[in-house]
Amino acid sequence: MDMDIFLNKYREEIISSLKEFIKIPSVISPPRPGAPFGPKVAKALDYVLNLGDSMGFEVKNLDGYAGHVQYGEGDEILGILTHVDVVPAGSGWTYPPFEGQVHDNRIYGRGAVDDKGPGIAALYALLALKEQGFMPQRTIRIIYGANEENDWECVNYYFSREKMPQIGLAFDGSYPVINGEKGVLVIHMEKDIEWRAPRFSIEDIKGGTAANAVPDYCCCTIEIRDQGLGGEVADLQRAFVEDTGYDVSITSMDGGRYRVESRGQPAHGSTPEKGKNAIGRLFKFLHFLDSGDEHLNEVLFHIGRLAMDHNGRDTGLFVKDEVSGSMTVNVGIVGKNNQAIYLKVNTRYPVTYSMDRAVEDFTRMAEGLGYKCKVENRLEPLYVKEDSYIINILKDIYQKTTGQPPYAFTIGGATYARALKNGVAFGPTFPGRPELAHQRDEYMDIQDLMTNIKIYTEAMMRLSMA
Ligand SMILES: [Zn+2]
Repeated sequence: MDMDIFLNKYREEIISSLKEFIKIPSVISPPRPGAPFGPKVAKALDYVLNLGDSMGFEVKNLDGYAGHVQYGEGDEILGILTHVDVVPAGSGWTYPPFEGQVHDNRIYGRGAVDDKGPGIAALYALLALKEQGFMPQRTIRIIYGANEENDWECVNYYFSREKMPQIGLAFDGSYPVINGEKGVLVIHMEKDIEWRAPRFSIEDIKGGTAANAVPDYCCCTIEIRDQGLGGEVADLQRAFVEDTGYDVSITSMDGGRYRVESRGQPAHGSTPEKGKNAIGRLFKFLHFLDSGDEHLNEVLFHIGRLAMDHNGRDTGLFVKDEVSGSMTVNVGIVGKNNQAIYLKVNTRYPVTYSMDRAVEDFTRMAEGLGYKCKVENRLEPLYVKEDSYIINILKDIYQKTTGQPPYAFTIGGATYARALKNGVAFGPTFPGRPELAHQRDEYMDIQDLMTNIKIYTEAMMRLSMA
């Protein structure tokens, strides 16, 4: 079938469907009966399922957690995963975030690319297949989750009641194809330490807000107990800043107490090398001041080193593979809990590395320094080999439709594809386009929307044939 004819015929309807979808501000809110993520999210789920129903497809709503629109009767399933919920709009928008206004051939609004545009594109791709009389051998199911932006309870609920697709695509990432996502381990480590030392004692310490973000601020209060240090601390701070370039300041308070602050640069926890870790900077400085106690100095040294060491090379954690490169380490949070100091560390492991071994490696390192460890979160890596059948087909479709060179790549972050057993993320964002998800002035370019429908139609067709 000529997709250009189909897209000409439906162009206005596609645009208005996405506009209507964007107009439902489907941000999570307190649950109501039948609406586990709040009434707005439930309304958005109803909206796409009703649209699928009006196209003549079989649809199913799983108690407001998720739903699907399906075509075909095969036993095997090709699953297409998208979601109907959005993150809050935030402020500073040029155009209202929940109106779906069109300017310069772009549809503006929260969710335009993440993930309402792809949800609509998938539905019209399915309609294109139906209109040309194509009968898939695998059942094609577009699965709409309803809380991807929070804890993915939607997909847990859905897959505890519905079959896992044999092949899965998540339309919630970037082109050409994301075939690997690193394993993620979030570890809480903690140990009692002696906070009082001959030269200074540490009264409190606090840095970072989340394990998966590079902290851009850390502060502590110290009491200087040694007159010599009191006299030279300002000079030491200047020398340290000059030598390292780190933004660390020290402010005198009452009774020999000082407030020490360090500033860094935030970044996502999966790319610690793109940020500057304020926790690491502060501990390096405290170590430089020399507490006069060997044990406390050692604690300060090791935390400083762990937090500044993006790939775990200095701490013996380092591993890498050919497919996804090096592991990463991010010390995201530090704090004081009675006598204990604690850290929350987010590590990402290469896609072919065993997560059991990752837990062992980390535990060995931390216990060797006297810490107790608890795994707070663990995400297995996702990896589909680049020379596999599914990746080859997706690369071929991408190249034929866009004329651009196809390739598959791996990331440290987590896309919705991780909810699938044999899944990859495929679109909707094209290389070179700005990353608009969760940003203000999020928009879907209308030409990109049409290209997405072409690509998705072809992908559904070819991957649903046995
Ligand atoms: Zn998304």
